[in-house]
Amino acid sequence: MARIGFVGLGNMGGPMARNLAKAGHEVAVFDLVPASVEACAAAGARPAPSAAAAAAGAELVFTMLPAGAHVRDAWLGAGGMAASSDPGAILVDCSTIDVATAREVAAGSGRAFLDAPVSGGVMGAEAATLTFMVGGAEGAFRAAEPVLRQMGRAAIHCGGPGAGQAAKACNNMVLAATMIATCEAFVLAEKLGLSHQALFEVASRSSGQSWSLTAYCPVPGPVPGSPANRGYAPGFSAALMAKDLGLAAEAAAATGAATPMGARALELYRDFVAAGGGGTDFSGIIRMLRGEG
Ligand code: NAD
Repeated sequence: MARIGFVGLGNMGGPMARNLAKAGHEVAVFDLVPASVEACAAAGARPAPSAAAAAAGAELVFTMLPAGAHVRDAWLGAGGMAASSDPGAILVDCSTIDVATAREVAAGSGRAFLDAPVSGGVMGAEAATLTFMVGGAEGAFRAAEPVLRQMGRAAIHCGGPGAGQAAKACNNMVLAATMIATCEAFVLAEKLGLSHQALFEVASRSSGQSWSLTAYCPVPGPVPGSPANRGYAPGFSAALMAKDLGLAAEAAAATGAATPMGARALELYRDFVAAGGGGTDFSGIIRMLRGEG
């Protein structure tokens, strides 16, 4: 069993840290919100008085924070976690942030540092079925992998520093574009008098097939577990999709990559969020495409 520090105990980090404590690790936890710390203490974790204290003495240190600025500040800021961590510790940031900041923090930490964003959402965090996409040194990945696998069902080493964030941005750009295209197809089918079920039966067995259709079908009925069947309760919120598309757009601008579909998807998700859809599942964008209020 390992000594682990865990900072950022929100919707995702809370259940992830609790799963590590339940697996028998000695987990020191910190969050700015005391109630989140208490929820982890109830699952066997040890409250730490600060982020730096949670990192001190740990073999593995995790952060799960909202955005790049929080991550940079937590690791490299005054009294930061990198400086207080053991020189031999492996540091792992699971937040979804921009590639440039991930690389900056890895280089500035002076330690073995992994960027390891996740997919699978809050349900995946609770059920320990997340997928980790990991950037950083191969040896650090191999050392961290058994612990990652106690929070998820897959951990994929994608390359050097920033490669995990790069994989997340690229994957979610595909996801957004296929979801919007799938929603548009259902809206067109409705206008043409084609039933939802008929379009699903055809597209799911032919070249229109995608995860957006077969796992997250944006209309109720064909896939009973999809968010459309529960009023578009997330799931994966449209606000987080807009955030991730913004990170992909930043990366495209920084590298000169042409991503016109990704850029349009970002505009549409920003419109949907501005219209009040941010807290709903990202498949709920079908309502905006139909012109519903
Ligand atoms: P959240 O807002 O619920 O949790 C973030 C936590 O960080 C909060 O508890 C906050 O108090 C804490 N925090 C912020 N600054 C801190 C600091 N300096 N020190 C200690 N704690 C601090 O967010 P979340 O939904 O858990 O998401 C976390 C990350 O995971 C984000 O980058 C998000 O994009 C990513 N993500 C979320 C989901 C999801 O479905 N929620 C899915 C995949 C990835």
